[in-house]
Amino acid sequence: MVIQMDGTGPRIDDVDLEGLRAAFRGQLLRPRDGGYDEARRIWNGAIDRRPALIARCTGVADVRAAARYGREQGLLTSVRGGGHGVSGTAVCEGGLMIDLSPMRGIRVDPERRTARAEAGVLWGEFDRETQEFGLATTGGIVTHTGIAGLTLGGGIGWLMRRFGTTADNLLSVDLVTADGEFLTASEEENPELFWGIRGAGANFGIVTSFQYRLHRVGPQVLAGPIFFALDDGPEVLRFYRDWAEDAPDELTTILSLRKAPPAPYLPPELHGIPVCAVMTCWSGDVERGVEVLRPLREFGTPLIDLIQPKSYMANQSMLDPGVPHGWHYYWKSCDLPRLSDGMIEDMATSSRAITSPRSYTLVFQLGGALSRVGEEDTAFAHRNARHNVNINGVWTGDDDEPSAHVAWTRDFFSKLEPHSPGVYVNFLGDEGDERVRSAYGQAKYERLLALKRRYDPDNFFRLNQYIKPN
Ligand SMILES: Cc1cc2nc3c(=O)[nH]c(=O)nc-3n(C[C@H](O)[C@H](O)[C@H](O)COP(=O)(O)OP(=O)(O)OC[C@H]3O[C@@H](n4cnc5c(N)ncnc54)[C@H](O)[C@@H]3O)c2cc1C
Repeated sequence: MVIQMDGTGPRIDDVDLEGLRAAFRGQLLRPRDGGYDEARRIWNGAIDRRPALIARCTGVADVRAAARYGREQGLLTSVRGGGHGVSGTAVCEGGLMIDLSPMRGIRVDPERRTARAEAGVLWGEFDRETQEFGLATTGGIVTHTGIAGLTLGGGIGWLMRRFGTTADNLLSVDLVTADGEFLTASEEENPELFWGIRGAGANFGIVTSFQYRLHRVGPQVLAGPIFFALDDGPEVLRFYRDWAEDAPDELTTILSLRKAPPAPYLPPELHGIPVCAVMTCWSGDVERGVEVLRPLREFGTPLIDLIQPKSYMANQSMLDPGVPHGWHYYWKSCDLPRLSDGMIEDMATSSRAITSPRSYTLVFQLGGALSRVGEEDTAFAHRNARHNVNINGVWTGDDDEPSAHVAWTRDFFSKLEPHSPGVYVNFLGDEGDERVRSAYGQAKYERLLALKRRYDPDNFFRLNQYIKPN
């Protein structure tokens, strides 16, 4: 199945490129140029769009030149950070793709415990630089995800219950607005814009760099999954729900419901077995973590317990092999309150009906520091949700029946959605305005609307989960 997006706006072939060429230091790629196909590919192999021009930016000057060009020529314009958005809004059909992936600079200030990173950086690169000084901030759980899109939507990960979302650790951003203006946003400068950037940030401009607060983390954490048979799932999940509720902030857990992958860390006899895994990351003192995790590890009859002291970096890359570039992905996600017995039964039943060995469901444990930041402090919303569930239908390009995996994803989602207070914007697919509204709630949506009208009244930045200015 190939997801297409309607093209609008003129073709670049009809448009004079000379002015942009003179102002641009990076590569300008058109469909006939070498490297074009590689540059237009993103993580989700189901997205196959062909921009008329890809502007591979090397810095702020390139971003400003490209944004002005797109604006002046009336081109449908998309912005690419790490290229992991599941709906593929980073790449457009027939328009201009502003590609930030060549912008990979990172500077850590170990004294002040801050880092500044350019918008093309991936989490694995960021972690490598910050861990060099024993530091980290809340980042994504897969190393090849971009810092840009993740931070601008909020950012949840293994450290969120201890340090808040990624956006909660954002100190400032530099950004280029739709008309090419350069701004800094922080608590002190353009504070209202900074409020909106932290949860709805793709709406107002192209962020060229991010400055983060860092924390002492690692190098060792106590982390890893403990696997149970899915047949024991309801019992395990009911125990997990009650046990995890009082967990200290240093612990974040994520449930994984799927067929056990053929991963090297699992013995072959487990491959393909339906499982319910509790994945853990304890980022505090390891000895104390052993005590905190003991009840989980002594519960029931696990198939295998892989919780162990390991480096923070190793834990950050643990899930990479299960979500490679190029497979086809379809997601449905929502936030959830405390898991009821009924939700648990539905999760187990739908997981038993899974149609693809590559599909999986993640249930993130929220709460902790994330829930103690004021609901009004950032555009990121639903801080009192207890979990986020992300149901991922996954298949390869040669699969005969992709629609079966999409149907499974939708059916599972339809059972949980009635209980949901909202959705996390970064897990949304191409699902329409109502779902974007539910990512923020009506009051925040109105506040974001005022910002959108101020910074992007013409909706130049509309290839994202956008706030509708009109
Ligand atoms: C394998 C995988 C794992 C993930 N894990 C997590 C996780 O642990 N936690 C989590 O919170 N999310 C996670 N996500 C979701 C992730 O936050 C979003 O997919 C996010 O959009 C990825 O950012 P990106 O820069 O890689 O994406 P892109 O596809 O490049 O960007 C997505 C959208 O963001 C906007 N954008 C990108 N860069 C900029 C910029 N510099 N300025 C303005 N707008 C910009 C654009 O509108 C673009 O369409 C994961 C996604 C994947 C695919």
